[in-house]
Amino acid sequence: MARVLILHTGGTLGMRPRRPDRALAPDEFGPTLLENVPELTTIADVDTRVLFQLDSSDVHPEHWVRLGREIADSIADYDGFVVTHGTDAMSYTAAALSFLLRNPPVPIILTGSQRPLADARTDGRANLVGAVDLATHEFREVCIYFDGLLLRGNRARKRSSFAFSAFDSPNFPPLAEVGAGLRKIAEPLAPRGPFRLHGSFDPCVAVVRLLPGQPASAWQALAGAGLRGLIVEAFGVGNLPVGDGSIGEALRHLITRGVVLVVGSQAQKGRVDFGLYQGGRLAEQIGALGADDMTPETASVKLMYLLGTLDDAKQVKRAWHEPIAGELTAAE
Ligand code: ASP
Repeated sequence: MARVLILHTGGTLGMRPRRPDRALAPDEFGPTLLENVPELTTIADVDTRVLFQLDSSDVHPEHWVRLGREIADSIADYDGFVVTHGTDAMSYTAAALSFLLRNPPVPIILTGSQRPLADARTDGRANLVGAVDLATHEFREVCIYFDGLLLRGNRARKRSSFAFSAFDSPNFPPLAEVGAGLRKIAEPLAPRGPFRLHGSFDPCVAVVRLLPGQPASAWQALAGAGLRGLIVEAFGVGNLPVGDGSIGEALRHLITRGVVLVVGSQAQKGRVDFGLYQGGRLAEQIGALGADDMTPETASVKLMYLLGTLDDAKQVKRAWHEPIAGELTAAE
């Protein structure tokens, strides 16, 4: 029987309503996952470990590194890993693990639920069973499994805080769909070298959305914010306002102060292309990097990762468009 390690990190799946206001809070449900879903033992030889029990809003880069280290230390002992995690920030953790854990020889599958496992109408049971089952297959990368879809982790976004189908993958097809059987769709990653745990994160990164008519002073103020990386969520294919040039000037100033500036898009789907409009040309002229077709979550985690792992801004810029774990589609 395949061996699977479940690492519990928190999230709704393991929560119960707490007094006095019955707000959902992480509790001691994580250690009893196997008692609550005993059918898991018919799918695989399962071990569980509780790494932490947090609402995912409190999961930080140090937790990503701890989780990566825990998986790396046990990688030779298991055929697959399942990480139970809150849905809110799950795509950030998935992206982070995909960068930290290079060429994993086994699947690493994050899952969670919209309703607690203790609830009669929980989606957690099906997600957990599906994730453990998929962890026994040959998907050698970091994935998110939710409501019948197996997604590349660094391509996934939380799309709904209501629907059981909470995640989608706007710019990359699902790896597989689970229904009455398993239907493989996109080709999973193939290892490009030996497995290794590599790198760390610099959290001094921000994402700021451009608004119509926003004054340049808002951007000028960021010069004193101690940032090493900034992602500007621009319009359409990555357009900045050209207007009086003041926003472009404020952003250029940030770059001259050593901030690595990335321009992304407010559109859900599609890729950044600086060649199409004047606003994109301006982004290119001032020295911004385009976010290609990366999700905002993955682009921000990648910026933290490259800043935390490489020596200087020059190296970060050189590495930016190189895919690490299938997180972007190369331009044609
Ligand atoms: N607030 C929860 C979390 O992200 C939501 C969930 O798990 O669905 O930890």
